[in-house]
Amino acid sequence: MLKNKDIKISVLGLGKSGIGCANLAVSKGYSVFASDSGKKRTHEKMNLNKKVSVEFGKHSEKVLDGDIIIKSPGLPKELDILKQAVKREIPVFSELDFALNFAKPKKIIAVTGTNGKTTTTTLIYEIIKKAYKNTFVAGNIGFAISDVVKKLNNKSILVLELSSYQLEDSPLFRPDISVSMNITPDHLKHHHTMANYVKAKSNIFINQQNKDYAIYNYNDKYLKKSIVKTKAKIFEFNNDKTRNGIFYKDGTVYIKKSEKTAAKFSPKINIVGRHNIDNILAAAAAAYLSGIKVSVINKVISNFKGVEHRIEFVKEINGVKYYNDSKATNVDSTKVALESFDKNIQLILGGQDKGSPYKPIFNLIKKKVKNIFLIGEATDIIKKELKGSAPMIECGTLNNAIKKIYSSAQKGDIVLFSPACASFDQFNDFEHRGREFKKAIYNL
Ligand code: ADP
Repeated sequence: MLKNKDIKISVLGLGKSGIGCANLAVSKGYSVFASDSGKKRTHEKMNLNKKVSVEFGKHSEKVLDGDIIIKSPGLPKELDILKQAVKREIPVFSELDFALNFAKPKKIIAVTGTNGKTTTTTLIYEIIKKAYKNTFVAGNIGFAISDVVKKLNNKSILVLELSSYQLEDSPLFRPDISVSMNITPDHLKHHHTMANYVKAKSNIFINQQNKDYAIYNYNDKYLKKSIVKTKAKIFEFNNDKTRNGIFYKDGTVYIKKSEKTAAKFSPKINIVGRHNIDNILAAAAAAYLSGIKVSVINKVISNFKGVEHRIEFVKEINGVKYYNDSKATNVDSTKVALESFDKNIQLILGGQDKGSPYKPIFNLIKKKVKNIFLIGEATDIIKKELKGSAPMIECGTLNNAIKKIYSSAQKGDIVLFSPACASFDQFNDFEHRGREFKKAIYNL
């Protein structure tokens, strides 16, 4: 698509990936127009090359002067400008497909899934980096793929975290190893139907060929059905009867190839929860299939302390353990956190309500939680929906909740900050909220 340097490129959306992509296109000699519906910002502020011409506050017809359009992840297909582009047969691509035109790394490992992407991607990156310095990570994890492309050569390994938004407009993408964690209903406002969502996610393995590998979660019904569409060699996790795959049993990880146990190891696991076993298995599989020695895989997993804000152990004070799970911005994530502990949980819940029901955690709370400490805007709605599950204490702010917990928690208790809500009522984002929680704990 990009053989001719005279073609014009329109970039839709100037977030991290849009900016990265516009800069990359200009550096390769293309003329670039970028359109962002948000507030005006300067080139300096955005770190955007001066040669990119821009518009803000709208998507004008100028976008349609482009020979191709690069669409930022998450922009709805229903945008008028995109409908017009389709009418005029202007091809629309993602940053992913565009950026990879300019790099041919030795290997691409790509991770997707509704949950567990960042943890698994981080772990894969840490394992492979240990054995192989020329390894890079990018994508949904926070670094634009376009920015990383400049650093790659034909000996590099690129580890990518990809959301359904990044995958949906990536019809050309073909990783050497794909990793699919799980698919549960999410982002349906954007994708409209579960079938569309599954299709977007399937782009991670749909172009793979028989020398590639597709690693997937055997326990996931959507993946089980869709994985058959790939030509790649399939490698399962979570099936202890597998011919080719990886599973965990009684503290040991087993890797099977052609029905035989090819390797096994017993890592020390520092991250809590059954879900993290999935993340470890998927990461170990990707590393193993990349030729990394089992001793290295075992060592990195045994030292892995998890990713910040995901059931992150903070400190033990007077026999009480404090965990920061600020990334739990929805009820599903809080459910996973509650499933990760047996009992004696002092739970901090609340923030900005997202409109989904709290009922799915009612029974888990009833079984495992001693008290709920409520913060933020969602207080009243949570009080109503979880009435009868556990005693509830209204605290208003996070600091107030921590003070109350500190004076009442008993030895053996688990303090779990897993709010099930967005953070924007009292914090800039979930990272800010998590850092404030940790600061308060360290100051106790
Ligand atoms: P993502 O990048 O997909 O959002 P993360 O690794 O950042 O995933 O984890 C975010 C939250 O998702 C965790 O705090 C946990 O609640 C949940 N989670 C993580 N891994 C899994 C998994 N394998 N299966 C189900 N839920 C998970």
